[in-house]
Formats: sequence, C-alpha cells, structure tokens
Amino acid sequence: MVHPLDGPADGSAGRSRLVVLAGPTAVGKGTVAAHVRAHHPEVWISVSATTRQPRPGEVHGVHYLFVSDEEFDRMIAEDELLEWAVVHKAARYGTPRGPVEAALEAGRPAMLEIDLQGARQVRRTAPDAYFVFLKPPSWEELVRRLVGRGTESPEERERRLETARTELAAEAEFDHTIVNTEVPAAAEELVRCMTAPAQAR
Ligand code: 5GP
Repeated sequence: MVHPLDGPADGSAGRSRLVVLAGPTAVGKGTVAAHVRAHHPEVWISVSATTRQPRPGEVHGVHYLFVSDEEFDRMIAEDELLEWAVVHKAARYGTPRGPVEAALEAGRPAMLEIDLQGARQVRRTAPDAYFVFLKPPSWEELVRRLVGRGTESPEERERRLETARTELAAEAEFDHTIVNTEVPAAAEELVRCMTAPAQAR
C-alpha cells in the first residue's frame, strides 16, 4: 500500500518530501529548528502537541500545542498523530498528521524536529521521508551541553548520559548527518538538504 506521506516514486516535483531532524538529547535540535524558523520562512516546521507544561515565553500554537492528557488520548484514538512518544519519561509529544499532509501537498519544504523514537515510527509509516541526524562535535561537548545547565541531580545526569550514548549509536539509521558545531551553519546545511534536488543530497 502506498502511504499518503510517501513522495512521488519518480522523485518528480510537485509534492515535497518530508525531512525528519533527530539526534541525541541536548545536541541542540530545538535551537537549530528555531534558527530555521527565524531565517527561512519558506520552510514549514511542524508544531507538535505535548502534554508538558509551557515554559516561560513559549506560545501555544507557535512552539507547541499544549494539550491535556485527555486531549492527547483523543488525538491518538482518532489517529490524528503521525507519530508520538513519551520523552524523558516525563510527557507525551506527537506530530499532528493533517498539517504535515497539507504542507507536503502544497509542495513546501517540510520538517519535523522529533526524538529518536518518533523518527523510527516515521521511518515505518513514511519510508520515503529524508532522515537527518544532528550530532555533537564530540562526546565531551555533548556531556558539557548536557551537564552545563546544572539543574539535574547526579542520578538524572547519569541517566541522560546513558540515553545519549545509546542515541548516538543510531546515526547509521539516518540518511545524512549534520555536525552541530555552530548553530547557523548546521541550520543552513539542513535547509540545503530540504531544498536541494534529491539526487544532490
Ligand atoms: P522539550 O520539552 O525540551 O521542548 O523537548 C523534549 C524532546 O521532545 C526533544 O528531544 C524533542 O525533539 C522531542 N519532541 C518534540 N516534539 C516531538 C514530537 O512531536 N514527537 C516526538 N517523538 N518527539 C518530540
């Protein structure tokens, strides 16, 4: 069966291809996505639904759709989510399917910034999507970014480091790797992946 999110088999223009950005915790996916949002209005970026509370400065409908547990349950039950996952054992996050479908249909470069579990689900349901892995310049740098905030307990830090170690091993599952040394350069490389013809990637 051809899934509605599959691009044209011959790679022809018209419908655009979905790009999925994933990578280990604390690598800076959100910051790279924010840079794309600020500098590339031509790129459509999915707004995820989440059950976590908004942080100061976060706007409903811009950064996330902040929904209740009941609403998230309903979205799952009605098959409104392209993928969803529990992240950091804390809250549920998911990609609303309808807007992604509309952006692709309109031929816009479209992107999801999601965790690894979500990327694997999209790989199964939309294998024609293009998967980009964002990687830190080094393990030491990832540790620095992860512990730099100093807000987690030593146990929590260990747990996240362990998660990051397994997540880094997933790089081979992806079509392309971008090293996040400088955010603007990483963001520009990502946009090139989205707008370049498939054969040039
Ligand atoms: P934060 O709560 O810091 O904004 O995001 C936490 C994590 O949730 C990040 O790793 C981010 O990639 C992931 N995330 C955000 N939206 C989605 C989504 O729709 N689906 C999945 N699977 N993960 C998401």
